[in-house]
Amino acid sequence: MITCRELLEFLAEYLDGSLPEPERAVFEEHLRVCPPCVEYLKTYRATIQLGKGACAGERAFPSPIPEELKKAILKARDSQLIQLRDDEIRRADDECKKG
Ligand SMILES: [Zn+2]
Repeated sequence: MITCRELLEFLAEYLDGSLPEPERAVFEEHLRVCPPCVEYLKTYRATIQLGKGACAGERAFPSPIPEELKKAILKARDSQLIQLRDDEIRRADDECKKG
């Protein structure tokens, strides 16, 4: 059985498919018994894919707008609307005074 450290040394080769069969089997054996390394592998792979995506001019992040950001935008928009309404009321007031 290899250690986590040894697994990390094989990681790049494993992912680009250049790791030869005996080591590959040992590598996968370790992954079966070591969830932290599986997690690390996932993160590592995602990072590589993000990098590739950015190079290919694709959007690196599939971007659902975070709920907090959405709220902030809506709030900003609402306060702007309120501002506009205030301006209109003031203008209407001025019209009245003039008239
Ligand atoms: Zn491990």
